Amino acid sequence: MYSTGGTPHSGEFSDLARRDRAGAVAAAWLESGRIPHAVLICGAEGTGKRRFALAWAKALLCIGSGPSACNRCPSCRKVASLMHPDLHTALPLPPRRGRQKPSPADLRESVVEYVHGASVALPSNANIAVDHLRQLQRELAFAPTESPRKVGLIFAAERMHPAGANSLLKLLEEPPARAVVVLVAAAPERLLPTVLSRCQRMILSPLDAATLRAQLEQEGVAGERLELAVRMGAGSLQQAKEVACGAFDGTRRLVESFLSGGSEQRDEVYWSVLEELGGDRGQLERFLQVCGLYLRDLFLLAHGRDASVVQVDRRPYLENLLEKIDAARVALEIDRAAETLGHNANPQLVLTDLWRGLRRGGPVLAPPPDPSLARARRW
Ligand SMILES: [Zn+2]
Repeated sequence: MYSTGGTPHSGEFSDLARRDRAGAVAAAWLESGRIPHAVLICGAEGTGKRRFALAWAKALLCIGSGPSACNRCPSCRKVASLMHPDLHTALPLPPRRGRQKPSPADLRESVVEYVHGASVALPSNANIAVDHLRQLQRELAFAPTESPRKVGLIFAAERMHPAGANSLLKLLEEPPARAVVVLVAAAPERLLPTVLSRCQRMILSPLDAATLRAQLEQEGVAGERLELAVRMGAGSLQQAKEVACGAFDGTRRLVESFLSGGSEQRDEVYWSVLEELGGDRGQLERFLQVCGLYLRDLFLLAHGRDASVVQVDRRPYLENLLEKIDAARVALEIDRAAETLGHNANPQLVLTDLWRGLRRGGPVLAPPPDPSLARARRW
């Protein structure tokens, strides 16, 4: 089923103009004016789903002239600040004490933070409440007030409460005139098959290196930092920007100290890294991710594939470390650590195991730090 409630309009909008299937599909739908009533925006983490979804909503609600968002009309501006009366959103929120509902202002603030903020992660106990979805459905039943359509945008749709997903089905089966429902999901396989089958898909691919490079250059990133950001960004503009502005520098320093300390059997380094990570699971995940990058680089250097190295600005360090470490073996340890952490293991024990693996990968064997001692410290 398609909405014909008006033609969206022209202008540049870089978040929609992508060289992947989603970009092509968006352009074709806007050009033809045949907009599906239910769309699922999916793709791996870091592929820009949230920004793409907002850009899609903007294009659908724009009151300028032309087949895409003009970025100038009052409607476009209101979408950008999430103040548009015809745009309704839902996203997982952590359970509240006393079960009070979030106020519209609280909700808007959460969505702004989620869409424009740097942090991707939602609390693991956050779900989209049934009430919240019902409210969205009621809103979509009204006629639009400013734009040709009403848009319901549901972020992290795989986290809908099952009862909420069921009630959404009714909306998808008989959509109100001029209403468009946009679901965003990194794990669409967790949606009800009945919901999935009613949505047309827009699938986002990771951004290619050329696109990432162009976007970063536009923002004034240059030189080795640009190269590093493109490579560490791994298809994610958000991550690339974080790298460019130095958000990973602290973690990289910590990882280097960990790798050097481990390969030289200096156990005091283990304690100081532990101290700095401070028991935070998110920090440890990032630490392991960066560890993995370093080990992969060592592996590439060891096999003469210098051109693919990610940490381009750290060549002398890597070459030096390569002489002290069995990179292939330690890389396996890091994979294992990341997997163990994924199974909700105690982060401290994961780090201890990794340290042991690192020492085994070094030239001399010595007794590893005692994990019971580690537990007696803090985590
Ligand atoms: Zn506009």
